[in-house]
Amino acid sequence: MGPNWVAFKTLFTALDLDVVLPDPTNREAIKIGVKYSPEFVCFPFKATLGDFVSAIKKGADTLVMAIDCGPCRFGFYASVQERILRDMGYKNIRVIPLDQADLLEFHWIKTLQEVSGRKDLFIYSKYIKAVIYFLKKAKLLNDIQTAEGLFRAYERNLGDTTRVVNELLQKLDKANTLVELRSFKKIIKDDFNSIDIDRSRTPLRVGLSGEIHISLEPYVNLDIRRKLGEMGVEVHQSLSLYDWVVHKFHLNYHRKWLEHLAKPYMPMDIGGECVWVLGEYIDKANAGFDGFIHSYPFTCMPEVTARTIITNKLKKIYDLPVIYFSFDEQSGQEGFRTRLEAFYDLLEARRDREIKSTPEFMANGQKKIYPQYGGEFYNEIAQLIQAE
Ligand code: SF4
Repeated sequence: MGPNWVAFKTLFTALDLDVVLPDPTNREAIKIGVKYSPEFVCFPFKATLGDFVSAIKKGADTLVMAIDCGPCRFGFYASVQERILRDMGYKNIRVIPLDQADLLEFHWIKTLQEVSGRKDLFIYSKYIKAVIYFLKKAKLLNDIQTAEGLFRAYERNLGDTTRVVNELLQKLDKANTLVELRSFKKIIKDDFNSIDIDRSRTPLRVGLSGEIHISLEPYVNLDIRRKLGEMGVEVHQSLSLYDWVVHKFHLNYHRKWLEHLAKPYMPMDIGGECVWVLGEYIDKANAGFDGFIHSYPFTCMPEVTARTIITNKLKKIYDLPVIYFSFDEQSGQEGFRTRLEAFYDLLEARRDREIKSTPEFMANGQKKIYPQYGGEFYNEIAQLIQAE
């Protein structure tokens, strides 16, 4: 899932294991995944199957796959993928499930034991180190994502933000002491601050949400974050690996807030990001955003449910413009780009009209309903951009 390899790699290298990274998801991996998967299965299944084959070809003999007891198809991914891989002739690989249904039940310790092949007492200190490093790197990846979403809309030279992000990922991969990780937030801020930006812009602000694999893997979502940013749009995406893991430890108060907002329309978790997408839509509308993008895999049941509720109910109440992108192996660049550009034009026209007619708009053209928006790091980055 996009840059999250950095965090997962550290989880296993801290246990003295060799990590084989699959190639970044690409056309070949998708082709293989599509060829060997059931035709009706959801797209992330096919993409991750292709990634597994890529890792096996590079020498991996053990695969770790997240599982859930969730109400959608995700609960079956690992076991079905293992069968398919064996049918493809990869008889000697092990697929080890990583149970992420409730991380406070600590089933993930079993995964670490199985992967490391050790259960002795001495290995537990390594488990603690592995988890701390994993969480720290996941948090820093979240911070990079936050800064990237804002800075790209202001960059003068197209590609500067992408370059800084790629360099930061390499640096974060190499940071393997607590001292380095503690000071990494400053490195993120310094590196982004070195980008030549145009502070006079007032970009459109768009919220991005949807199913986790599609939202985080740029190859399958046609690099939607970068495209939006290069069109001059601020992209606000709170969904990240860290956001999800902290939620599974029951410590994600932002998600609890989103659940509270969504409760009248969806009182339970039906899988995917359904509940939180609804909460995000309401939250972004209340925060005075210009638009909302919902991305999900074709045939994803929970996300299609969220889409229906937004279209039939929430849009009428909150009136925040929304566009939906459903991705699968058939998604084409040009149709996608055309729809994205049309959505941008619509938002821009709407903002022009609102600036002229709505007293809620402040002098800089930003409508703000919440006095304060975003977490601590978001506000630090926003201040960096505003500071002369
Ligand atoms: S959330 Fe959607 S895409 Fe993911 S497993 Fe469930 S149905 Fe499939």
